[in-house]
Amino acid sequence: MRRLLFALSLGVLATVTAQQVAAEPVLLISIDGLRPADVLQAEQRGLHLPNLQAFLQRGAYASNVRGVLPTLTYPSHTTLITGVSPGVHGIFANLTFDPYGKNQQGWYWYASDIRVPTLWDAAHNAGLSTANVHWPVSVGAHIDWNLPQVWRTGTDDDRKLLAALATPGLLPSLEKDLGPYANGIDEDLAGDQNRTRFAIKLLETRKPAFMTVYLTALDTQQHASGPDTPASRDVLEHIDQLIGQLVATAQHVHPDGAIAVVSDHGFAPVQHDVNLYLPFIKAGLITVKDGKVTDWQAMPWNDGGSAAIVLRDSANVAVKNQVAALLAQLQTDPLFAIDHVLDHAQLVAQGGTPKAEWFVQFKLGYEMALTLDTPLPSQGSHYLGMHGYDPALPQMRSTFLVMGAHVPAARNLGEVDMRDIAPTLAALLGTSLPQAQGKPLLPASR
Ligand SMILES: [Zn+2]
Repeated sequence: MRRLLFALSLGVLATVTAQQVAAEPVLLISIDGLRPADVLQAEQRGLHLPNLQAFLQRGAYASNVRGVLPTLTYPSHTTLITGVSPGVHGIFANLTFDPYGKNQQGWYWYASDIRVPTLWDAAHNAGLSTANVHWPVSVGAHIDWNLPQVWRTGTDDDRKLLAALATPGLLPSLEKDLGPYANGIDEDLAGDQNRTRFAIKLLETRKPAFMTVYLTALDTQQHASGPDTPASRDVLEHIDQLIGQLVATAQHVHPDGAIAVVSDHGFAPVQHDVNLYLPFIKAGLITVKDGKVTDWQAMPWNDGGSAAIVLRDSANVAVKNQVAALLAQLQTDPLFAIDHVLDHAQLVAQGGTPKAEWFVQFKLGYEMALTLDTPLPSQGSHYLGMHGYDPALPQMRSTFLVMGAHVPAARNLGEVDMRDIAPTLAALLGTSLPQAQGKPLLPASR
């Protein structure tokens, strides 16, 4: 018994020591919609990105990251923080499935919808302190200092909601020094600059061992004007300055820490809206009265460059056969610009939502219409840049850069599976994500 106890205590000691040796603080920054070549080929593209390019010499980087289904912000960010596909983590789209439009454009705000442990959880369980500024799906997450992303209607009451959902007392204490925090709905460069000031103050004053920071203006600008436009390039160069400030602060606070920069998806120019609701309405599968859905049997779930097709009753064979025939017909009609359709088995195998029966991937240049009454063919498109297309496409690939005391310098990791990023960061933190589908990318011993 004594020997056993002795062995047990040795084992515990060895575990703790190994964790202490491996553990290093991690700052994880996401730049929404950052394409890998913008950093890897910055000179060729005429982009001045000294702070992002510094990672290529000082750290390790992916030539590109293959994302998840759908290539959208919320599903992708949840994969980045869990290491599993959307079908497993439960964040299936940006907006929740809301066929009658009752949820006021509600996004998947709530961390309680995430079905597996996150990096915040793993860090917390390892006894590490955690912080967050604006990361998607973070309302109610177990984070020591949390400023979650949330908005509702864009009125002033949103500020009270955000303050109420943030860690009690945190927002007032930061605002005392910094002035008002950005509104949740503000997704332009000024919002990123404001949140970066809050992130820097949080880092300096609370010194969290694991911190997430989310910057959104590049995505906003690429949607509005398209990728590669002067406006999008300008926003990216300004974000590079924010990265420089965050890196300098993190290295001052945690000289032995690691810093990772990720993105969630790529971007492609778009010229046409596709009203995929129309054929479903014509076929009697969606009933519309006074511009509102009053009944439905089958419904597209908008994912930008794609759409999931949900059946109200997937056991209804007659409806299922009707929709299958309809989708087969739409695929032959160039008006709908469908690249391919996944059936349920293919959708689940590719890590997409099990709630849908099919998954429609549009051709590049086409996006799902936002409203039931969008004309077909459309006059132009609602956005000028879009994502949500097939994750296999080079245009949809995203970014991974990491540097730190224990990260090899100038190391090209090649093509990376997005699900490998969370386990890699967990290993740097000296912890792990046992449920992750991906694996750590950096050598374990150092
Ligand atoms: Zn995004």
